[in-house]
Amino acid sequence: MNISKSKAAFIEAVKHIPGGVNSPVRAFNSVGGNPLFIKKSLGSKVTDIDDNEYIDYVASWGPMILGHTHPDVVEALNRTAMNGTSYGAPTLMETEMADLICKMIPSIESVRMVNSGTEATMSALRLARGYTKRDLVIKFEGCYHGHGDSFLIKAGSGALTLGTPNSPGVTKGTASDTLTAVYNDLDSVLGLFNEYKDQIAAVILEPVTGNMGVIKPSDEFIQGVRKACTDNGTVLIFDEVMTGFRVAKGGAQEILGITPDLTTLGKIIGGGLPVGAYGGKKEIMDLLAPNGPVYQAGTLSGNPMAMAAGLTTLRLLDETPNFYEKLEEKAAFLVAGLQKNLDDLGFPGVINRVGSMFTLFFTKEKEVNNFSDVMKCDTDLFAKYFMMGLESGIYTAPSQFEAGFVSIAHSEVDLQETIDKSREALKQLL
Ligand SMILES: *Cc1c(COP(=O)(O)O)cnc(C)c1O
Repeated sequence: MNISKSKAAFIEAVKHIPGGVNSPVRAFNSVGGNPLFIKKSLGSKVTDIDDNEYIDYVASWGPMILGHTHPDVVEALNRTAMNGTSYGAPTLMETEMADLICKMIPSIESVRMVNSGTEATMSALRLARGYTKRDLVIKFEGCYHGHGDSFLIKAGSGALTLGTPNSPGVTKGTASDTLTAVYNDLDSVLGLFNEYKDQIAAVILEPVTGNMGVIKPSDEFIQGVRKACTDNGTVLIFDEVMTGFRVAKGGAQEILGITPDLTTLGKIIGGGLPVGAYGGKKEIMDLLAPNGPVYQAGTLSGNPMAMAAGLTTLRLLDETPNFYEKLEEKAAFLVAGLQKNLDDLGFPGVINRVGSMFTLFFTKEKEVNNFSDVMKCDTDLFAKYFMMGLESGIYTAPSQFEAGFVSIAHSEVDLQETIDKSREALKQLL
């Protein structure tokens, strides 16, 4: 495979961009290669500047559930741009967006649009603190909630991949307000509630994790966390930036049957444009300015272009008959094929899947249920597998600690090709 143009482009990029990338997860540091520069995308495929085409499972890190460059989204963007791209005044699309979000995720009674997932989680935490008049927050090892200071403690995703789960630049004061617990370990949560009685403002978690790879919470764990929050007057925040509109129409909370107090959204909700949102109980949301004293604002929040792409995407998800059933079928087909490869070859590994999110963990363990299980994975083996995938035209996240995403645009041919290429790679790695 010739990637000479991407190599040259990277040499230029590092001159004036830190690490040559505008988000560290795009770097190939942990797999030891050169990031590919993408010039276009369509459906299930992306094309790099050397004209190599790949079946894409990165999906812009989650948003592209309809596949890339969906004609309806492109049409909505074109139509909107003709009337202007930002006014800093209310538009009808913002109300339509809020109505649709509240309909699709019933625990959300009121919702505020922001510009990224990071902004959503930061703002939701401030609101939870303002509401409870408490300071402390519990997060879980390996969960990622964007790059807000409070969350860069034992964080997942790029922070984990690049070995910086605790970032310099976060003050001791901020760090000491964040308590960490172990995912799928209810006792670790209850212990903190005991130790810090009446001081915990919020518990935040990925209700299905993606940022340390895909892990589902046990019923006992997630129900116990909900109960502990209720008993202690603590705000339960589901960070559904990745899982919202992804694992089900109503997000992970629909699958789990748990009602959080606040939910954060991003990724899919922007349809490929920069968007985030947070919402939940009206009683809590009403504390936000201009109704209440908790301040949060944004020059470009609810931006018309972002609303056009997001609203078009959500409407298609809401109105397409059996959308999530079809998506589930595709993802199940892919993962069954990948699992059969492991079984046939006797190759050690664990595949976790929830809806259209999946991770193949290179591990000799039988199950992967929390951060310490994830840390037992063989990242060198992953790096080799990743590179072989790339060489054979399969584009996945350059990290063991991420989810792969199946979109509705992945055809059976795409999925079968992926299964076959994966088998070839595993054979060579045996
Ligand atoms: C991606 C992600 C974020 C951060 O969103 P950005 O738009 O990258 O700021 C927060 N939480 C979760 C669960 C995510 O997957």
